[in-house]
Amino acid sequence: MRLVLVGPPGSGKGTQADRLVKRFGLTVIGTGAMFRDAIRRNTETGRIVGPLIRQGLLAPDTVVNEVVAELFRGKSRPERFVMDGYPRTYSQAVAFDALLRQEFLRVDAVVNLRIDDDEVVRRISGRRCCSNGACGVCFHVTAQPPKVPGVCTVCGAELVLRDDDKEETVRRRLGEFHKNTDLLLEHYRRQGLVDDIDATQGPEKIFADVLAALLVRRPDETGNAVLTAEGRAP
Ligand code: AMP
Repeated sequence: MRLVLVGPPGSGKGTQADRLVKRFGLTVIGTGAMFRDAIRRNTETGRIVGPLIRQGLLAPDTVVNEVVAELFRGKSRPERFVMDGYPRTYSQAVAFDALLRQEFLRVDAVVNLRIDDDEVVRRISGRRCCSNGACGVCFHVTAQPPKVPGVCTVCGAELVLRDDDKEETVRRRLGEFHKNTDLLLEHYRRQGLVDDIDATQGPEKIFADVLAALLVRRPDETGNAVLTAEGRAP
């Protein structure tokens, strides 16, 4: 199964990607997380994208396309994956199609997580992420609180509001999202790949809707995995 998650910041792409990874054993490819890691390690890519990310702007298509292409080169290329945050523009989608074609792969489904801007701002202002770069897990002060306030439940490091999660920056990120997403979705809708999901619901219900949509598209792969996860024979 090869999936692309589309949705504004705060729509729950990361949470749903984690669940898809656990359920189906997919590889998650999160370009935002890859960039944050590059910034931390002060690589050339990190130095290019750092100032843009802090301002809520997108990284250049050429840079992000190259970072993703590199993952697919070589022997350990992902075969079954969920894309979290890439492609984000029409031009990235065209480049990704070409990359996958070279590898004799294709996207099976695009999950479009729909949520309005005010709800996004409300959600993100409560988001607190682990300051330990190697962990990076995010919580929400009310919807998904850590066991101890301000402390990462996974690794014990301090939880912080990310620079790019501040309201003014989130509004700019939303502007970028709307500017790019119509064309991106149109590209995938023409291929009949898009499933629209109501992302204002809780994470469980969103995941159930995602599974239901995938079950229609990939009945064998999805059906077997669902039954196995419930402890019954596939
Ligand atoms: P995310 O964690 O997916 O919200 O990404 C954080 C930031 O990384 C975004 O606001 C962008 O600045 C940058 N970024 C991540 N993925 C992409 C992409 N596919 N194209 C351009 N910029 C990206």
